[in-house]
Amino acid sequence: MLKKLKSLQKGQSMLNQKKGHFGDYGGRYVPEMLIPALEELELAYESAKKDPVFKKEFLDLLQNFCGRPTPLIFAKNLTQKLGGAKIYLKNEGLNHTGAHKITHCIGQILLAKRMGKNRIIAETGAGQHGLATATVAAKFGMECVIYMGSVDIARQRPNVFWMEQLGAKVIPVEFGNKTLKDAVDASLKDWIENVENSYYLLGSALGPHPYPTMVRDFQKIVGEEIEKQIKEAEKKLPDYVIACVGGGSNAMGAFNNFLQKTQVKLIGVEAGGRGKKIGDNAVRFGGAGRVGVVEGYKSYFLQDEDGQLSDTYSISAGLDYPGVGPELAYFKDQGRVEFESVTDNEAKDAFKTLALLEGIIPALESAHAVAQVIKLAPTLPKDKVIVVNLSGRGDKDLFIVAKAFKDKKFEEFLKKYLKGFNND
Ligand SMILES: *Cc1c(COP(=O)(O)O)cnc(C)c1O
Repeated sequence: MLKKLKSLQKGQSMLNQKKGHFGDYGGRYVPEMLIPALEELELAYESAKKDPVFKKEFLDLLQNFCGRPTPLIFAKNLTQKLGGAKIYLKNEGLNHTGAHKITHCIGQILLAKRMGKNRIIAETGAGQHGLATATVAAKFGMECVIYMGSVDIARQRPNVFWMEQLGAKVIPVEFGNKTLKDAVDASLKDWIENVENSYYLLGSALGPHPYPTMVRDFQKIVGEEIEKQIKEAEKKLPDYVIACVGGGSNAMGAFNNFLQKTQVKLIGVEAGGRGKKIGDNAVRFGGAGRVGVVEGYKSYFLQDEDGQLSDTYSISAGLDYPGVGPELAYFKDQGRVEFESVTDNEAKDAFKTLALLEGIIPALESAHAVAQVIKLAPTLPKDKVIVVNLSGRGDKDLFIVAKAFKDKKFEEFLKKYLKGFNND
């Protein structure tokens, strides 16, 4: 079994069903034993999509549990400072659990319930997806197991701590590099063994069909909200919508509604990390990324000659991923979505700028999108309108940001705190 799963990562197709393709991308390249589970999921999703009761429950939870619609606010100070296009911020950070992810987790847990599954499997790298999954599993009273590489567990303790507080069982994965792709293998193995009662809850708009379509459908409400809100504010569509791209869920969520409206330019922002060398960034498009088949779908991946995924790096955990959703790969080739990359340093500057000028502490992922806006806005006339999708808020990045800014007082605090950790 593991051997079979391993070959998933070597880019060998075991069985490519002509399903769920975006041009040449996407599809379902999985070991044969996973096909029934994916078929069952696809059928359940197709039926749920048409069911007004499902839709009503989804929208009700988005409103009352997640806090949708999230606000779109004019960034007056940032606009003035940059002196060009008008900038609006779509504040997805005001969602419950602090980012857009909860939206597609709610959609999927409702589907799990509809399918009669009472056990949720997920894998997580940085822990944000694990946290959102543990949250919805708690809300729906379901058992939740989260696979996480032991290396990731060691560096993401705060998220692991919260997952456990929410009742999830976090299982360390001790094989391979002990990071995300090994956690994916462990999750797939569990799913195959426990498919009767288990739902595999995916964290972005990627993976084998139907996940990319399904996650995008759950997230597309973001772009719909943007259109309504910007029309109220500006009486027109935006000229640009900009979002950061890890796997692609927040970007597809913001973009989907505008794909046919070709006057709206769409820009995805990838993590340029600390440099152009392979292993120093997560630039799949325009960088060293190549088309391949990994983890069940065809897309651009950062990979070596053998099709093994390369190491990636970014200050932002959510963008630090070698693959990217197949639909974005398609729209990149079509020229409908343009891609740019932003370095760690540019993202850090943007983080600071947004905090100081707008009173919003963005997630480091979202700070990448803001950095692109800071480059673009001054080059545009004042009547142009940019909407930037702030995928999340920055609370989760406290330790990383304090370290990145070499904050001595924070370091002192940690030392003192440790000394007193076992005192009352
Ligand atoms: C996970 C995450 C991302 C990256 O994931 P996508 O699927 O590309 O959206 C971006 N921003 C935040 C705040 C995240 O938590």
